Amino acid sequence: MSKDLQSNYIEKEAIHGAQNYSPLPVVLKKGDGVYLWDVNDKKYLDMMSAYSAVSHGHSHPELVSTLVNQSKKLAIASRAFYTEPLADYIEKLSNLSGFTSVLPMNTGAEAVETAIKAARRWGYFTKGIEENKAEIIVADGNFHGRTTTIVGFSSEPDYKKGFGPFSGGFKTAEYCSSNCECSKVCETSINSIESLVTDNTCAVLVEPIQGEGGIVTPRAGWLKQLREVCTQNNVLLILDEIQSGLGRTGKLFAYEHENIQPDGLILGKALGGGLLPVSAFLSSREIMDHFNPGSHGSTFGGNPLAAAVASKALDLLYDDNLIENSRVMGDYLANQLRAIDTNIIKEVRGKGLWIGVELHKDSVKAKQICLDLLEIGILAKETHETVIRFAPPLIITKEQIDWALEKIRTTFKTYSK
Ligand SMILES: *Cc1c(COP(=O)(O)O)cnc(C)c1O
Repeated sequence: MSKDLQSNYIEKEAIHGAQNYSPLPVVLKKGDGVYLWDVNDKKYLDMMSAYSAVSHGHSHPELVSTLVNQSKKLAIASRAFYTEPLADYIEKLSNLSGFTSVLPMNTGAEAVETAIKAARRWGYFTKGIEENKAEIIVADGNFHGRTTTIVGFSSEPDYKKGFGPFSGGFKTAEYCSSNCECSKVCETSINSIESLVTDNTCAVLVEPIQGEGGIVTPRAGWLKQLREVCTQNNVLLILDEIQSGLGRTGKLFAYEHENIQPDGLILGKALGGGLLPVSAFLSSREIMDHFNPGSHGSTFGGNPLAAAVASKALDLLYDDNLIENSRVMGDYLANQLRAIDTNIIKEVRGKGLWIGVELHKDSVKAKQICLDLLEIGILAKETHETVIRFAPPLIITKEQIDWALEKIRTTFKTYSK
């Protein structure tokens, strides 16, 4: 009976939905804080947070009341008019981030597209690149979203096969990974980026840690060197912190671990407080002023409802101590995972509450571990075949982590040889 209830919904999706996802076999109906419930009232600890969109926890009461109150006042106005919540929100985000200008969008991919447009205009109008020659350097293994332009510079065949022709102007360099051959900072990566720079390069666009790529964590110093390469060559450094930003790595922004300043910053996911899609591109006034009326926009971008929720989501990063908790609990979780006595784990990596557990290729598949964890009440998601990601809401407590660790240990040991 209870199984039928779930298969009923799963079947409806199979019949009426596009098959562009293959979800774990669970039908959720409710969320509260770090917990989720399925339609059979089985409770789960959420250890993936909707790919970091739910850093504040599910249905945060203050965010929900902000959403309800603002929706009763004014939800959508379009950018044909000014609104109070947008002005207040971008002022707050600007002060908090240190970037003078904010361009609000909705989904992450839209904010990435915005960054690409900004970088190209800067390239043509300020750097003096010849029309239609601008190039952007991206990293192997990147994930920046799903538009045709963005998948065009993905290195993942599944993301792009059959969707061409793609727009040009992108070059792919090596990323720096903690388990590559280089002993210190990945010279292969820095050299490969440097070798692709030409007079036509307007920007380097990378993630400080590659999330979908497998929580691939560059060696300390890599981002700093990349910053130097960009500065020396008069190239913008644009960081996609849609997943790594807003406390996920234990700092407000992941680039703070390296004490650098990028020229452009892309935010999304947690910016919507787990309630709405909210994204933004941030930069200096000088770069942002390459947009003029008519050159870019979005019907829903910066709407008063999203602005009010995002503004509250920013406050709660501090009021709820999310950034510090991510750092402390993240270190604890990673160290406990490293200490598990098993021979199936190759590497535990990441920063803050954003941890990838890479399994040896010849051992159990990451998806199988996720299915086993699902059975015993933990929601986690694999990326690629070998990496399990643990990225719970940033409000998670030590008691909740200990509860999960108990189950994770048991699961890993089942497959140890
Ligand atoms: C999720 C993600 C995106 C895309 O965001 P959407 O809201 O799904 O369009 C882009 N870049 C990174 C690093 C992401 O994690």
